Amino acid sequence: MTHSHKTQTDLPKLAQTIFFRRLPETYFTRAPIANALQLIETMLILISMERFNSALVTALSAAESLLTRDDSDGVNRDKRSLRNKLHDFEKEQPGRLKEFVDTSTEQLGANVNQCLDIRNTVTHSGYSHAHDDASAEQILDVAWPLIERLYSCVFGEELRDALVVEVAQQFEHAVKIRSASRDGDHAAVALRPLAWTVQQYISPNFAPGFLWDLNGEQIDFSDLIHKRTDAFREVAHFDDEILPCPICDEISFSASFSFDSPSKPFGLHIKFGACGNCRARISDTREGRILGDVLFAHYLEANEKRIAAEYGLKE
Ligand SMILES: [Zn+2]
Repeated sequence: MTHSHKTQTDLPKLAQTIFFRRLPETYFTRAPIANALQLIETMLILISMERFNSALVTALSAAESLLTRDDSDGVNRDKRSLRNKLHDFEKEQPGRLKEFVDTSTEQLGANVNQCLDIRNTVTHSGYSHAHDDASAEQILDVAWPLIERLYSCVFGEELRDALVVEVAQQFEHAVKIRSASRDGDHAAVALRPLAWTVQQYISPNFAPGFLWDLNGEQIDFSDLIHKRTDAFREVAHFDDEILPCPICDEISFSASFSFDSPSKPFGLHIKFGACGNCRARISDTREGRILGDVLFAHYLEANEKRIAAEYGLKE
């Protein structure tokens, strides 16, 4: 049996990446690395469809691929269990995976065990929606932090620096929304801005050919976006201001405001809002409040005084 080292030209043409700004060299030479990055992208698309169960399963497969040693040519496949892979990795880079493994007992950390339990429950229940929230929670609390850590250990750079800015930013928002949430809040809400952003980011791929006019120019949708933004303002009465949308960057988010207090700090927040271009929505619920506070943090802070004054509130 002979083994040849694969070079870039030997490998089949790789699928293009969508959400990576740059790729590690080994993407082109090592199948498990290409596999891991493709799985991360698949996970993002599954999150955008709110298929959190499948996204969790995919995320854990991505983590396993990042830990795989050989080139999976089918003969020398790395058959170590996830537990062994994580412990071997921790031995090679001591301390880097300490949140995920228990070095004293050679067992997995309680968080990883729970995450794997939920993955098993999900798959055995046929991906029932009953586990959507638990899956979203495990993605946010365990699977994604594990992927980020492994990425940083394997490639020496942060995953958020390799991903497109829009997507990386929504992971930061997800962490903030998750930490502002309380017991009983839906973990899935924290992934909603990411879902909207991924949908927005890949939407040009779905534009059918007839959206180019007879001269071959792409049809400009700004009129349509204005009409829908106005409809949210006039029909839905989200009529206080039109803000720049934090998901799609158009000036198309119709919002109505509310205040917690009649005097400073006013506690300005978005009570209702919707974008005329993308899927971004804010409802008058506790979870809606957290979403609005995180996504529009800069706008609310910069404009609170002015808007309060317009409402006749006093400092
Ligand atoms: Zn938008």
